Amino acid sequence: MIITKQKSFEKIKEFLFPYRSVFICGCSECATLCKTGGEEEVKAMKTRLEEIGKVVSGWIILDPACHRLNDMKFFREHQSEIDGAEAILVLACGNGVQTVAGIVEKPVYPGCDTLFLGEIMRFGNFEERCQLCGECLLGITEECALLQGVPRVC
Ligand code: SF4
Repeated sequence: MIITKQKSFEKIKEFLFPYRSVFICGCSECATLCKTGGEEEVKAMKTRLEEIGKVVSGWIILDPACHRLNDMKFFREHQSEIDGAEAILVLACGNGVQTVAGIVEKPVYPGCDTLFLGEIMRFGNFEERCQLCGECLLGITEECALLQGVPRVC
């Protein structure tokens, strides 16, 4: 799972300073599990933005945000709300932000920072497990042998 943390509200405010209206996208998968971009967090963000005078034209939980075809379908269903926004805020990882930016012809801003590819240890507690290096060496490393309970061969 891609682990994210929400950016500070001050940073999000800074991004959205030039715009009066915004549409918010969340993500049904990792960002929901990280509690950075699920329905609860998207609704909380909507309230906070409205408190500072922004018009939130709508919101959606993309399923998931990095799925281009699904996003296109969801955006068609929310077209008028998206048309009513000057900017889009995405509460998901950078992959989700870039997927949305590749579809919507509006300024798109990230509401989260992407931290790492990790394992859920318990709710809200994650450990980094992969660096996405493109050549998995876990089959020959000591760490993997230990994880599998295989005696280490020196
Ligand atoms: S957009 Fe990012 S956070 Fe959402 S499912 Fe895809 S990888 Fe996970």
